[in-house]
Amino acid sequence: MNSPTVLRVALATPLKRLFDYLPPQAVAEHTLTPGCRVRVPFGRGKRIGLIADVSDHTDVPAERLRRATAVLDTEPLLDPYLLALLRWAADYYQYPLGEVVATALPAALRRGQDLATPSLRWCCTPEGRQADPEKLGRRAPVQARILDAARRMPDGIGPEDLDPPAPNWRNAVKSLQEKGLLSAREGSILTQDADARAAKAGPQLNPAQCEAAQAIEADAGYRCYLLEGVTGSGKTEVYLHAIAAQLAAGRQSLVLVPEIGLTPQLVQRFRERLGVPVAVLHSGLADGERLRSWTAAARGEAGVVIGTRSAVFTPLCKPGLFIVDEEHDTSLKQQDGFRYSARDLLVWRARQLNVSVILGSATPALESLENAHSGRYMHLHLPERPGAAEPPTVKLVDLRRYPAPDGLSQPLLAAVRRHLDADGQVLIYLNRRGYAPVLLCGGCGYVAECRRCDARMVLHRHRSKLVCHHCGAERPAPSHCPECAHAMHPVGQGTERLQHALQEQFPDEALLRIDRDTTRRRGELAAQLERFRRGEARLLLGTQMLTKGHDFPALTLVGVIDADQGLFGTDFRASERLAQSFVQVAGRAGRADRAGEVLIQTASPEHPLLTTLVRDGYTAFAERALAERREAGWPPFGFLALLRAEAARREAAFEFLDAALTAAGPYLVSGVTLLGPAPAPMERRQGRFRAQLLVQARQRPALQAFLQPWRLALEDLPTGRRARWSLDVDPVELY
Ligand code: ADP
Ligand code: ZN
Repeated sequence: MNSPTVLRVALATPLKRLFDYLPPQAVAEHTLTPGCRVRVPFGRGKRIGLIADVSDHTDVPAERLRRATAVLDTEPLLDPYLLALLRWAADYYQYPLGEVVATALPAALRRGQDLATPSLRWCCTPEGRQADPEKLGRRAPVQARILDAARRMPDGIGPEDLDPPAPNWRNAVKSLQEKGLLSAREGSILTQDADARAAKAGPQLNPAQCEAAQAIEADAGYRCYLLEGVTGSGKTEVYLHAIAAQLAAGRQSLVLVPEIGLTPQLVQRFRERLGVPVAVLHSGLADGERLRSWTAAARGEAGVVIGTRSAVFTPLCKPGLFIVDEEHDTSLKQQDGFRYSARDLLVWRARQLNVSVILGSATPALESLENAHSGRYMHLHLPERPGAAEPPTVKLVDLRRYPAPDGLSQPLLAAVRRHLDADGQVLIYLNRRGYAPVLLCGGCGYVAECRRCDARMVLHRHRSKLVCHHCGAERPAPSHCPECAHAMHPVGQGTERLQHALQEQFPDEALLRIDRDTTRRRGELAAQLERFRRGEARLLLGTQMLTKGHDFPALTLVGVIDADQGLFGTDFRASERLAQSFVQVAGRAGRADRAGEVLIQTASPEHPLLTTLVRDGYTAFAERALAERREAGWPPFGFLALLRAEAARREAAFEFLDAALTAAGPYLVSGVTLLGPAPAPMERRQGRFRAQLLVQARQRPALQAFLQPWRLALEDLPTGRRARWSLDVDPVELY
């Protein structure tokens, strides 16, 4: 007799192991394949999981081995490569495979829904080309929009190209077909004649772009390129060239961008220039849209996939090229749950599939620079902006000489005036929302603090509230001190207060403020940015949200209000982050044919970080920072993992970490050290006490060799039940 087949199933549970089941009764043998979904009994309920493995052996005693109730797929949803990627990620980031699978699959598939039906694509017929769009648009605006999109796409459009999709688009497509303006066709675009595509031509590449584009060979196999180019230097044009070369060879490209960089303009640019369907994947999609994009990628109906972090797991039927834009951006690392780095996983995936990957940035991560120095990555440079005369001039304003009681120093005000008079636009950067970060009693020095966090409450005057930016707690703002009844004073600036100050100085100028408070509604951020781009306002004030990827041709002055808030950070990465955001925000100035100017207000103008950055630029700063990291053994010259714990009682968090420290004993290998446990830099947050234990290793393999058995041992610690804990491999923040 044959031994029974056992399905090893990945289920989304906190346990880092697989679950064994017998196959359902009367099931076709070929569907019992890794990558297919199964429905299984679990506890008293039912769950959907993924077959990770099929074995003829199990340690579960026969009487406890249960039977799966159904196999949901006739073919694997995930191919062996993708499955191997997920497995590797689960091992590397010490996270349960079932949870990793759950991150990779669209919600609709996790719930057991079928793949989207092969989507038809609709091509414009010759009659459709002749039709008068205005006439159509008056009576049927959705039809007009769809027809217009189809006209620009010789390969036809699919549902994933309707961005955003109108609720009644199916009817509109049907009407267009009935009128003979659209025709439907089925199948992968990648198997069709590439010459049929008529994409809109882009600008002629300049010599540096040409050199980069030529270096990126279409058939080189695995290579990693670090494309370092100042903001606006035309990196996207280089991506477009490389992607076009892949399309010509019938292959797909996958592009990862930071959440905030994925704008409709960017997607539009890709669609027009490449002339193929582009599938978009981001967290704001409805489940159905996400499933359609995912399916279009898997079936080869989309030539390009653009997405945020989790798009790294998108199945592709003919992968040719991977790209990570703004590769330094921290949003590429998930900060809770399955804490993976999408950039690092994409590089791994490229190597696995033997395709190339481009990492692009104006301010590369120090890790990536070090990989370029060591020769692992090929370093490509775009040193200047096409057309633009000069890079912006950057100057420091010494706040000790020029006080700025309401946030605006005389030199900055004068510069704003000068640029407005010369018909330029001005961006003021302050990475702190609200009215004032501190509400202080003038009598006794009492400061309003959060009751649940070790943090000060931020005054939001417009709403007359104190708000904690860490836990979201709110309470009415007191006008008088609860201790001594003196009047309370706001101290320091947030964007709300600065808006008043600017408006007072420039009463006749329209001003836009962009921060989380002013852009809560969906689409509001894009709308505001578009208004500024169109010149409806010449003054723009905002936070971190402004530092990424936006192109403002008429912007000539950038003012940084407060350089000091990040200069003395506790995290070893604080200075890298600060330098990146300065350079990114400064890069907004003078993009077209006007020279830009950047003024940075600071009370520490002799700080080496600032002086290096201003005098010698990001590259010099990075060299210096890398030398410091090498000295200290910090990444990329060492490797870290952070075990975090939090609990309602301080002792519970520490008891767990102490036990974790003891449990580490048998597994400690040479070159691995544990530091702590120690309280987190902000110990109390949302009423819970937080502490951490840092694992530091000289080599990655040693770190991994230690983490594997240790992570399993942690699951068994009784103290782990009284604290919430997580393990973060390659953390980007140390708190
Ligand atoms: P990046 O991705 O580096 O920020 P983009 O590719 O978006 O830069 O280019 C910035 C701007 O310069 C865009 O408006 C783009 O159309 C334009 N541009 C890029 N390359 C060229 C070129 N070779 N000639 C003319 N304009 C160009
Ligand atoms: Zn709080």
